[in-house]
Amino acid sequence: SPSLTVSRLAYAYPDGTQALYGVDLTIERGERVALLGPNGAGKTTLVMHLNGILTAGHGTVEVAGLPVRADTLREIRRRVGLVFQDPDDQLFMPTVREDVAFGPANLGLRGAELDRRVRDALERVGMLDAIDRPPHHLSFGQRRRVAVATVLAMEPEILVLDEPSSNLDPASRRELAEILKSLDVTVLMVTHDLPYALELCERSLVMSEGVIAADGPTRALLADE
Ligand code: ADP
Ligand code: ADP
Repeated sequence: SPSLTVSRLAYAYPDGTQALYGVDLTIERGERVALLGPNGAGKTTLVMHLNGILTAGHGTVEVAGLPVRADTLREIRRRVGLVFQDPDDQLFMPTVREDVAFGPANLGLRGAELDRRVRDALERVGMLDAIDRPPHHLSFGQRRRVAVATVLAMEPEILVLDEPSSNLDPASRRELAEILKSLDVTVLMVTHDLPYALELCERSLVMSEGVIAADGPTRALLADE
């Protein structure tokens, strides 16, 4: 099955604001897809449905064939790795090692298996050298890479990033782009950074007023703007 299938997803907030009007979306395994669109289009609301932060909508969301439901949330949250915009919302332990180990330890991994997961995830983001350092001693760009590692250590089906290039200097932007291109994982990134979408994502979705208004090759979509 695809990494992600969203069918006829509609959602209104408790105050009555209709944020999603019937979203249909399929992302195949290994695709890297950008989610574009103006503020208020519904991007955050859609992403919050992917790992069950919001579940009250109409329609269905499936991650590798598993429906997002109250009784699947534990497995869904392992399969959907969310990387927040601010890495400091994700890093809270005394060392990088403990931050990256936190999720897999929670799954019950211990000892050599846990250590392998942590090292492998840090290696994939080029941060293994920092394993014993306190996250707050790292640069912002390095903290974002460690935040990505905390999610990779869960071996997710899909990596969902919120504005991955925000607040990065040019060198860190390039480094992160190379890292994201090297990962063999399905990626969905919410971004306003069109050059980044163009570089990283062959396919883009454009949300507008609660629907997916366009879905196609990034190059073609950006040529239309
Ligand atoms: P985006 O991430 O594309 O900026 P959002 O998903 O945050 O869009 O917002 C979609 C719509 O839902 C907007 O009209 C926004 O004002 C509204 N909205 C978002 N969060 C809430 C909330 N907690 N309560 C009510 N309305 C909300
Ligand atoms: P993003 O930059 O990720 O799109 P937003 O700036 O749209 O996020 O929203 C930030 C926070 O404010 C979110 O928690 C969202 O749910 C909330 N929010 C957005 N619009 C509204 C609204 N109209 N009423 C209440 N909360 C809102």
